[in-house]
Formats: sequence, structure tokens, C-alpha cells
Amino acid sequence: MCGIIGYTGKQKASPILLASLKRLEYRGYDSCGMASLNGNNIIVVRKGTGRIERVNAKVDFLSLTGKVGIAHTRWATHGNVTMENAHPFTSCDGEYALVHNGILENYVELKRQLVEKGHHFTSTTDTEVLVHLIEENMKQAKDIIKAIKETSEQAKGAFTFLLLSKKSGDIYCFRKDSPLIIGVGENEFFASSDMTSFLEYTNKAIILENYELAILNDECTIYDLAAGKEIKKEISTIDWTAEQATKDGYPHFMLKEIFEEAEVSKQALDQDPAKLAELVTLLTQAKNVYFLGSGTSYRACLIASIYFAKLCHRNFMPILGSEFKTYQNLFDNETVLFAISQSGETADVLEGIKIAKSKGAKVVSLVNVMGSTIMRESEQFLTLNAGPEIAVASTKAFTSQVLILVMLAYALNNQLAEGKEHLNEVIFQFEIIMKQSDFIKELSKEVLNKQNLFLIGRGVAFPVAMEGELKIKEIAYIHADALAGGELKHHTLALIEPGVSCIALVPNDETKDDMINNIMQIKARGGIIIGISSEKLDIFDHYIPLAKVALEPIVIIPILQLIAYHLSILRGNDPDFPRNLAKSVTVL
Ligand code: GLU
Repeated sequence: MCGIIGYTGKQKASPILLASLKRLEYRGYDSCGMASLNGNNIIVVRKGTGRIERVNAKVDFLSLTGKVGIAHTRWATHGNVTMENAHPFTSCDGEYALVHNGILENYVELKRQLVEKGHHFTSTTDTEVLVHLIEENMKQAKDIIKAIKETSEQAKGAFTFLLLSKKSGDIYCFRKDSPLIIGVGENEFFASSDMTSFLEYTNKAIILENYELAILNDECTIYDLAAGKEIKKEISTIDWTAEQATKDGYPHFMLKEIFEEAEVSKQALDQDPAKLAELVTLLTQAKNVYFLGSGTSYRACLIASIYFAKLCHRNFMPILGSEFKTYQNLFDNETVLFAISQSGETADVLEGIKIAKSKGAKVVSLVNVMGSTIMRESEQFLTLNAGPEIAVASTKAFTSQVLILVMLAYALNNQLAEGKEHLNEVIFQFEIIMKQSDFIKELSKEVLNKQNLFLIGRGVAFPVAMEGELKIKEIAYIHADALAGGELKHHTLALIEPGVSCIALVPNDETKDDMINNIMQIKARGGIIIGISSEKLDIFDHYIPLAKVALEPIVIIPILQLIAYHLSILRGNDPDFPRNLAKSVTVL
């Protein structure tokens, strides 16, 4: 969360920073700001609250003329969403400007000490402490590398930052716990939370590790501050393209990404056979395997866990990223932690990985972003091959996660070829569902003005319903509740009265008869049923058809994504930028 970007080179920095900032906007959009060195060697800062376009219309970022600058788009953690709390922040003497991604855990104490020493604060953020602390440390150290090292020892938490120096015109790029990538162009450098932000300019990148500091000027010099020495790092080539990160004619990234699902799913199944076999061996031999994921990725873990139980008779328990600590005693050197994350940077999951590793557990992962921290922390990993996912609400990454995990379950049961056949049927159905988008939009109008929406399913369809619930809440802002059909009689039937809408997931599997009973219980109380099934049952008030395939519950996923998308649009929301949320959740 929070996007940071820096540029130094031969071109005017502000247009490049602005374009890159827009590509980072999915990471946070409470406020934004930019700092650049102008001709008189003064750091000029512009900032404001709201989306980037709005702030730019007010402050005109392009009026900053310097060839070096830093910028930020904020997802507030500490301090209200105000202009004063927008980044960048400057030191008292105006020598430094700083943007930050993360949370400074001991900022209250540090701020108190700095105020005692005479520092003047203009915001209520944790971030501002960093720039004053560096300024303070410089008084003794007289050397910026030393001052940053000292700061990194005094600060606690996640504090990846870019620091612009007036005197030298250099950008100091330091990483601690939030991602930071250096883009290497022709006579120019970028520093960013996300490589897609500078892909238009270069596909060459250096991925920084914790406690590494890159100094950008005419060159890029990297120090390992923990080891106290300069280091050389490999420059990798990113295989994503700038075009993949555009809307390509679609009104929203989310719709584009849903429509990409069939194509992307084929790439998801196209895994290196050797890597797949190696992972299958590890999972087969492990005494215990636990999945770890947050949000949508956790729903993929739930679905996967059911398939591993059904097909392989194995209990791979799913754990919520943020709940890991509660289960930490389950981990030892015979245990495998299987981490699932689109960004590969999810802070909750990373924290779990650290703890599991300290107990000797092996870590494997499934991520979308190559070079991400979770990938690098893993002994073995598979990638989703989904291309950049920009919309905050995950869609194509989720279907890829599900498909790969189900393929793994088949592989573990020595049925890889059969599994792939079933999964290819699913992919074919994805293409058909995209053609029904307008029909799904019409049907969505039936629930447009509902205060509550229930989704019921059993077996695999239950976590699929949970993902539908998540999407509807996330982007349509309608309260939704997913439950296993059998649970109705234990509580939620109390909420069913005439006119209450319920989306019923009725795949043609062992859950069908029980689901019909549950639907009858809802109908007996006047509830309205939108049935998703391969059979048009009389008990449905509205019907969305499914093809009869072996993995029917998975085919329902894009239908629910499209319902959420259309509801969001019909209610006047921006599905790409849901309120209060951001992608790539790098805070705990
Ligand atoms: N803690 C900082 C703020 O609230 C940065 C937040 C983040 O990186 O998500 O401004």
C-alpha cells in the first residue's frame, strides 16, 4: 500500500512521475504529492487530498521543472486524510524531502525526542518522523549514508522510503519490509514500489532487499547497510509489457481483467513440468501442509483445501494471513507453509513466513509478481502467469490461483492429465460466460437496491460463494453474507422474509439435493432465489445457466465477479478504486 516513485535523469521529472504515479494509484488514493528540485536548487513540494487527477488539476504537478524528483500516492495508516498529512515531507532546514511506504511503529517515542530537540512537525503522520530523524542524525554523522544507517537502527516497523537531497540532487532509496525496485534506463533511473509504474520507460530492474540503500544520480550505487559495504546487484529483465498494464479499450481494469481470464488461465496451467513435479514431491512427503493467504487469496486456499481433501485425502489446512500467530505452534521442520499472494508482498503472509521459517518449516508459494518478496523467501514457487493485475479487486489472479491449486491436487493424486482436461473445460466455459456479461448485468438489476444479499453454496461452492460475497462488498458496497446452505437453519433463516434475495450456487455434484432443500426453506419464507446451476429448476425466481462440467463450482467464479462488477457500475461506484481499500496490502 502507498505507492512511491522517484526519477532522476536527463528529462523533466514531473511528467514521468505523474504518469508513474497514476499507475501506482491502485496502491492508495487518499492523497498524493510530489517534490522536485527546481532550477535554483530548492526543493518544491506540491500535494493535496483525493485522486491524482483531482490533485493535479489543483496544484499542477507539471509546473515542477526539475530533472530529479520523488512522488507518493497515499493509503493512510497514521494520521487523517488531509493535505498536511500527504507526502512528501521536508526536514526543518529544507535540505531533504521524503516519501514513505510502511508503518513506523515507534514514531510516538521518536517524535517526542525530536520535538524536544527543536524539530517542528507539520503533520500527524508516522512518516514525518523519518525525515527529521535523518536530519538530526546528520548533525553528528555528517555523512548521509551513516545517518540513514543510524535511522534504520533507531526506527522500528516497515519503512521503505525515498529521500531527495537538495545539496547533492541525489535520491536515496532505502528498503525495509515494503517493496522497492530500481528501474535502470538509458542515462536515467527510477525507484518504485512496483515495476509496472516505470515499464513504459525500461524493463531493466534491480530488486532491493531489506536494509539495502540505492543512491541514484548519474549512476546507481548500492550499499548493504547491515553489512556496511557497497555491493553489486544483478539487473533483471521484466517480462511484462507496458501495454499489459493499460485498459486496452475497456472502461475499467476490472472488466478487462475478468475478460482476460480464459487466456490467462491457459498460461496458468502452462507450468514448468519439472518445477511442478518438484513441488508435488515436497507436498507429498511433508507431514503437514498449511495454506496461508489473505482476502481473496484466502478464498483460493479454502477452495484448494477442499480439493486436496476430496482428491488426495489430505488435510491441507487453510490459515488466514492475519491469524497466523495463533497457529504458529503447528510449525516445525516437517511442515510446509504454502503461501498464496497475488502481489507476493502481503504483509500478513510475510509475517507468517518469517515465523514459520524460524521454526524450521519449509516455505513454498504461488505468486503473480516475479521477484516479489514472498517469491524470494520461498524454497520453491510457482507463478500465476496472469500478467499485471491493476484493479484493486482481484479477479484473473484469483481464477489462476484456483486453477493452479486444483491442478496441483490432481497432480498429487497422479491424475495430472485428467485434471488438466477438466480444467480446460472450465477455461472453455469462462469464454462462454464473458459473452453473457450483458445478460448478467440485466439480472444484477434485480438486487441493485437490496440492503442485504445472501449467497449460499455447499462443498466447493461455499468458498466460491464467500469470494462472491467479498467482491460484492468490496466494490458494490452492498452488505453480503455467504453461508453454507446447511447453516441457514442454525441462524440466518431468521433474516429471511418476503423480498430478501439469495444467490444460490447449485452445481451438479453431491451438494445438489441438499441445496434444493435449503432453497425450499428460503422460498417458504418468501425469499427470492437467483439460481446458478446447469439445470433450470422451478424453484428459481431467476436463473443463470451453467454448463455441466466436472468442476462446475469453479465456473461460477467469473459469474459472481461480473455480478459484483455490474452492481458496482449500476450503483455509480468506481470498481477499480473501492473506497478505503488498496491493492498489495503491505501493512499489518
Ligand atoms: N504510514 C504512512 C502514512 O500513513 C504510509 C502508509 C502506507 O505506506 O501505507 O502516511
